[in-house]
Amino acid sequence: MLRGKSRFEMNEKPLIRSLNHRLFVKAVREADLEKYSVDVLKKFLFKIGITNFDEVTTFSKNAREWLNSHFDAGLPKVLERLRSKDETIKLLLDCNGAKSESVLMNSRGKRTACISVQSGCKLNCVFCATGKLGFFRNLSFGEILDQVLILRGDASIDRIVVMGMGEPMDNLDEVIPALHFLTSKDGYGYSRKRITLSTVGIVPGIERLANSGVGVELAISLHAVDDNVRSAIIPMNSKYNIEDVLKASKLYASKANSKVTIEYLLLQDINNSEDDAVKLGRISRKYLMPINLIVFNPTEGIEFEPADNLERFTKIVSDNAIAVTVRRSKGKEISAACGQLVMRGA
Ligand code: SF4
Repeated sequence: MLRGKSRFEMNEKPLIRSLNHRLFVKAVREADLEKYSVDVLKKFLFKIGITNFDEVTTFSKNAREWLNSHFDAGLPKVLERLRSKDETIKLLLDCNGAKSESVLMNSRGKRTACISVQSGCKLNCVFCATGKLGFFRNLSFGEILDQVLILRGDASIDRIVVMGMGEPMDNLDEVIPALHFLTSKDGYGYSRKRITLSTVGIVPGIERLANSGVGVELAISLHAVDDNVRSAIIPMNSKYNIEDVLKASKLYASKANSKVTIEYLLLQDINNSEDDAVKLGRISRKYLMPINLIVFNPTEGIEFEPADNLERFTKIVSDNAIAVTVRRSKGKEISAACGQLVMRGA
């Protein structure tokens, strides 16, 4: 189940963290605060982690009282916190009635946070546990940032990947302000090279992100080199095909002056032929994008198998591509792939 009871249904004060960005800005202005106070409040809520507006000592007493009487500053509830043998931590959060997942992975002492942007997803990619859950709602920019805030309670974070539940290009009104806060000096101050956003490739979204000025790195979930195969596993491909997505990504790379990587989930008898490997390598060379091969993590209810020719496939891609890396799943025993934890409780 993606959905619990929201505070609105329970007749409680709304959570300020769940307001969308437009309403958040409006709330600050209605508290009779100046425009710059929007950034001040973001910092107190999403970086310092206050849960009561009285802690914003730079605001007037009247403004604090107004905020306290209209909103709750409480954090999302942590419904589950799991830790695997490889020190992966996975959280299941209740964001005002919407469930979402966040993961903290540890690789040779470097920690990467994987965060969600939606509760569920509309796009229904057939290999994805989140796709099977359906869509409940977009997460607000605050609910996206809260995941970083909460995960930082476990350890410092070196890198952030927007690769959890949901398609970021389907929620850019919230994702862009969240990325601005993560990269701004007044926010978390992460270098844009330390943040990667993953997308199946919604072309207008890629263009909008390129124009937004956030300039984070992009990972394109290609997962096939043939449009028929890709449309069968990623329905959005029938709207924006492989060439559309790669061309938009190339423009993104030059406009945002940022790296774009091609992600390729290896699925047995679907996309792992030697011919696929050659074509994938050539795409990498043509568009000057490195390849990240992903080993499929078998998931209950999803009828795919990991490819049995990883080594050979990698060798052929590497003979043709500009660069190739292989990514294996972390935290297998705690269902760390996106959507698995919610699915388990569904
Ligand atoms: S892979 Fe991404 S876009 Fe596709 S269903 Fe899963 S979360 Fe949605």
